[in-house]
Amino acid sequence: MQQQARRGVCLVISAPSGAGKSTIAQALRQRDPHLFTSVSVTTRAPRAGETEGQHYYFRTMEQFREMAQKGELLEWAEVFGRGYGTPRAPVEAALSEGRDIVLDIDWQGYRLMKKALPDDVVGLFVLPPSLEELERRLRGRASDSDDEITKRMKASLSEMSHWEEFEYALVNETLDKAVDEAEAVLKAARLATMRRVDIATSLKSLLP
Ligand code: GDP
Ligand code: ADP
Ligand code: 5GP
Repeated sequence: MQQQARRGVCLVISAPSGAGKSTIAQALRQRDPHLFTSVSVTTRAPRAGETEGQHYYFRTMEQFREMAQKGELLEWAEVFGRGYGTPRAPVEAALSEGRDIVLDIDWQGYRLMKKALPDDVVGLFVLPPSLEELERRLRGRASDSDDEITKRMKASLSEMSHWEEFEYALVNETLDKAVDEAEAVLKAARLATMRRVDIATSLKSLLP
């Protein structure tokens, strides 16, 4: 009997900048190489060490708008004055092949993803242990200018105010614990009854 593949789970991780969502998403991908990585499109400039097609697709605002207009982005949002978006085709293909996806995007993106794919998206919000620690991490990452860090710290409280829109939340105190918790959310989402096509199929002939 041919097993029908379950649809993939799309785990969306959001957090104020610097709370550790990219680090957690990266660790999940390392633990499970089958996880599909969605590469976002952005209009910001590459940071040192970032490469086209791996960290982001770097595009001009004009190109970005054209992609959005043509419906090539599943969701897009303006974050810190720049355009960020998730390419549609790779995400839809991965989910229908039964591959799970981890997206680290902002809360606006989560809202739009939930609207676009309500049965596939599970939301996890990552909080920093304190604002002081958040600033320490932003500075420690040494990738943004002082101005950019001030902008991100200012935005952090309003970003955190959205935490209850997510199904799950964790505080990223020690990285290992945070990654374990994120993995537990992904595992639970995979076991949701509506995704268990395999069980539905095998019980069909047995149950009244
Ligand atoms: P970081 O949060 O400081 O690592 O900054 P990034 O440059 O990685 O991301 C900037 C912002 O864009 C963050 O708020 C992300 O959550 C958000 N973001 C990243 N990728 C996406 C995406 O595909 N869609 C949306 N809507 N937002 C995204
Ligand atoms: P985000 O993607 O949410 O902006 P990052 O994943 O880039 O955040 O993390 C910001 C910085 O904090 C990085 O330098 C990262 O190595 C560090 N970091 C992440 N999680 C922890 C943690 N639990 N303890 C200490 N430092 C952390
Ligand atoms: P950074 O400029 O630090 O790479 O990203 C800034 C913020 O943009 C982060 O919070 C990141 O998660 C968010 N972001 C990155 N890619 C996307 C995306 O495709 N869509 C949305 N909505 N946000 C994104």
